[in-house]
Amino acid sequence: MSTDQNKFQAIISHCKEYGFVFQSSEIYDGLSAVYDYGQYGAELKKNIKDYWWKSMTQLHEDIVGIDAAIFMHPTTWKASGHVDNFSDPMIDNKDSKKRYRVDHLIEGHAETLSKEAGDALLAQMDELLKENDFAGLKTLIESNKIKCSISGTVNWTEVRQFNLMFSTQLGSVTDEASEIYLRPETAQGIFVNFLNVQKTGRMKVPFGIAQIGKAFRNEIVARQFIFRMREFEQMEMQFFVRPGTQQEWYEKWKEERMQWHLSLGTDPAKYHFKDHIKLAHYADAAVDIEYEFPFGFKEVEGIHSRGDFDLKQHQEYSKKKIQYFDTEINQNYVPYVIETSIGLDRMFLLTICNAYAEEDLSTADKQDSRVVLRLPAKLAPIKLAIFPLTKKDGLPELAKELMNDCKPAFHCFYEEKDAIGRRYRRQDAIGTPFCVTIDHQTKEDGTVTIRHRDSMEQERIPLSEVKALVLSKIL
Ligand code: ATP
Repeated sequence: MSTDQNKFQAIISHCKEYGFVFQSSEIYDGLSAVYDYGQYGAELKKNIKDYWWKSMTQLHEDIVGIDAAIFMHPTTWKASGHVDNFSDPMIDNKDSKKRYRVDHLIEGHAETLSKEAGDALLAQMDELLKENDFAGLKTLIESNKIKCSISGTVNWTEVRQFNLMFSTQLGSVTDEASEIYLRPETAQGIFVNFLNVQKTGRMKVPFGIAQIGKAFRNEIVARQFIFRMREFEQMEMQFFVRPGTQQEWYEKWKEERMQWHLSLGTDPAKYHFKDHIKLAHYADAAVDIEYEFPFGFKEVEGIHSRGDFDLKQHQEYSKKKIQYFDTEINQNYVPYVIETSIGLDRMFLLTICNAYAEEDLSTADKQDSRVVLRLPAKLAPIKLAIFPLTKKDGLPELAKELMNDCKPAFHCFYEEKDAIGRRYRRQDAIGTPFCVTIDHQTKEDGTVTIRHRDSMEQERIPLSEVKALVLSKIL
């Protein structure tokens, strides 16, 4: 446990030191659970986003992408159930005034117990959550003597629901009608556009609509770095199917999404499926894809079979018919939906955690080590670093020629300063898969040294082949 915690702390520091993630508004002491992506983080995040977008839209002829606004008509959130139900059971400690999410408080306590006792406690909690038994949850907390980490007391309030949506005013007049929400998920932008897309795109069920965008949740327990944020990004896809075929499509998307994760080369043992215990009343089935973060297996993506709940709700609240005429069976119906929903920031954290390695390179006569991000080449912020061995003898000119040839095709980095070994290490730390050194031999025979990040092997190849080699590894 402690070494994993240390590793996680080291990853957080690394993200800051190398320009991946900064605390938001750090000069004002930060804003809790809000983060900024730095120069390399923004590149990595964009590459993850592009990889998902391409695999969902370009590679699936039956899926199209949209980009809906963050602000939506307030009735959207009544129809979706978020105004009434998007809340978590909370409890406050009367002495410290600190508010906790009930499940997190109990989970935290379970971690301090033996495996058997912890599992038994969590099973009791799951049962009570399923029944929405708030009094029972309070009794469970009290009978287990679960203390507030700040006051150290067991002086708890009743368990209450707390809505996670942020609200704000639209326009200049402050009245109830102008109160709108920052969307807590991107999915509703897809549902309300179902007919627009279906009709203008002449889409035939089954088909999907994908979207990437910001979502906002006033999370009470904001911890574990970018795992749980108040402003984050989601990559969601709603797949509309004929009623009765949802089970088969659910299984298909479950499998496809896992394959997407594994296509990035991650060890399959680091992933597992976790079925939801508490299903929403309209849902057929729901599963999480969990990854083993340094702080344990946690959700990175959810796959949900949502029936016709969302479209029917919008039909009812908007009083507009949302139906599809299926020419194959000559029937009108409200399609059923399979949803895949992944957090971009969580995928970012997963990618960094999976890539981060501290390596001991000591030999008999020399102590040495390195920190390397073994990122999949297609996700790496920089694909190729180009180093002239010295600043003279025409080597920078040759290196810049290579730079100019490659930079329209992929992201390159040019550096003349410091010894080559140090330049390699800096690139290892940001996950650059290839470094090329231009030396005096390059002038004689047109070859360069290419160095591979993971094996640290170096080989000589013709300068003219560098671009094609990098391209072949990043597509
Ligand atoms: P959790 O149980 O962790 O709060 P959830 O089940 O509420 O998550 P969903 O509503 O299914 O999450 O959202 C889909 C995905 O969005 C999640 O799998 C996760 O990757 C991401 N996500 C949700 N909330 C956050 C958050 N506060 N910060 C970052 N990512 C989030």
